[in-house]
Amino acid sequence: MTSRFPAQPELAGHPYFQFRNNVLYAEDVPLSHLAERLGTPLYVYSRAALKAAWESYRSAVGQRPVLVCYGMKANSNLAVLKEFARLGAGFDIVSGGELKRALAAGADPSRIVFSGVGKQAWEMRNALAAKVKCFNVESEAELRRLSEVAQGMGVRAPVSLRVNPDVDAQTHPYISTGLKENKFGIAIESALDVYRSAQSLPGLEIVGVDCHIGSQLTDISPYFDALEKLLDLIERLAQAGIRINHLDLGGGLGIRYTDETPPSPKALLDHVFERLEARGLGHLHLVLEPGRSLVGNAGVLLTTVQYLKHSEARNFAIVDAAMNDLLRPALYEAFHGIRPVHPRAGQETVYDVVGPVCESADWLARQRKLVIEQGDVLAVESAGAYSMAMASNYNARPRAAEVMVDGDKHYVVRRRETLDDLLKGESTLP
Ligand SMILES: *Cc1c(COP(=O)(O)O)cnc(C)c1O
Repeated sequence: MTSRFPAQPELAGHPYFQFRNNVLYAEDVPLSHLAERLGTPLYVYSRAALKAAWESYRSAVGQRPVLVCYGMKANSNLAVLKEFARLGAGFDIVSGGELKRALAAGADPSRIVFSGVGKQAWEMRNALAAKVKCFNVESEAELRRLSEVAQGMGVRAPVSLRVNPDVDAQTHPYISTGLKENKFGIAIESALDVYRSAQSLPGLEIVGVDCHIGSQLTDISPYFDALEKLLDLIERLAQAGIRINHLDLGGGLGIRYTDETPPSPKALLDHVFERLEARGLGHLHLVLEPGRSLVGNAGVLLTTVQYLKHSEARNFAIVDAAMNDLLRPALYEAFHGIRPVHPRAGQETVYDVVGPVCESADWLARQRKLVIEQGDVLAVESAGAYSMAMASNYNARPRAAEVMVDGDKHYVVRRRETLDDLLKGESTLP
């Protein structure tokens, strides 16, 4: 028996994004309605998906002493931040701008950790004034600056060193951070010496050890390799009289974009606590900094087919979203699932789905079998992380609107930029 509708493989964001009667829904809202009412390109997030992703961490933590700090660079929309703040999340920030946003969303500063390789003095001052939990420091020069800034304010800055354990996260080179040749962290061989010099600086108080080995990890073994190296370091630190309170393992758990089966927070935490116990370090608190795995599959990007263009070598679907809206394909050759929100029956054609920007790198998906016509609305899957957060105004394109769905309701959480917005802040010579 043939079904009434074309077969629908499960979406990456299932069950928060799923087909009902051949129309794609976000929770209880048909995406075609949102596209009609709000226009495209449009980012659509599911509140229930955010909550479920948070719950996967919360239930894995149980009663254990773990602070989960949302790696907010993945998606720093205020409504997303507010949701996590309400759920009790901490935040991992990488700039003074992210501090501003986190505080505006009601974050508890004592649950904020400040990461990043290039912190400026003003950013340090703002974070010290807010009394953040910890600075994850990445160089000796940064230690000296932080100590001076803290002394100038008459306080001591809580610090961890971000240690580079030299493990291969086996992910895309642009999102691998734990190898020797990366700009991030302090080589693990020098870490003891750098901790000693941190100890000698008057404006600092050592509180932890930090690492972050990369992003979109789909294999758990790099974490375990890094963990053993960090536990060795923590033992050496203790022998040198340097006691720490927490171990921060960073973010990086992957999500399913296509057919990946990323490790779960529980698999990670169970192993980590087993090893902490086994090595007599059961007193340590743990910090995690997940970004992508909390938001990646809680969003889609809606875009409308403007033209179909057939050349000898390729068929192109030219859509109204572009690399300025979603950079990941251009930047990392990333895969995003893509499908019509209202699928039609018919003969499949293989398309490259591309945007209007004047760059050959401006594509969203390549070589996809689709049945589409001009005017159809497509959903780009897994667009909750590193998507709107990386959007720009390249080609003088106003940035997309963002909407959050909650059951059968929807809320515009960032209005579409206007053409007048594009001119803001600029001036010409007299
Ligand atoms: C980007 C980043 C994160 C979040 O990484 P995900 O892969 O999104 O989980 C956490 N910590 C640091 C230091 C980061 O730079």
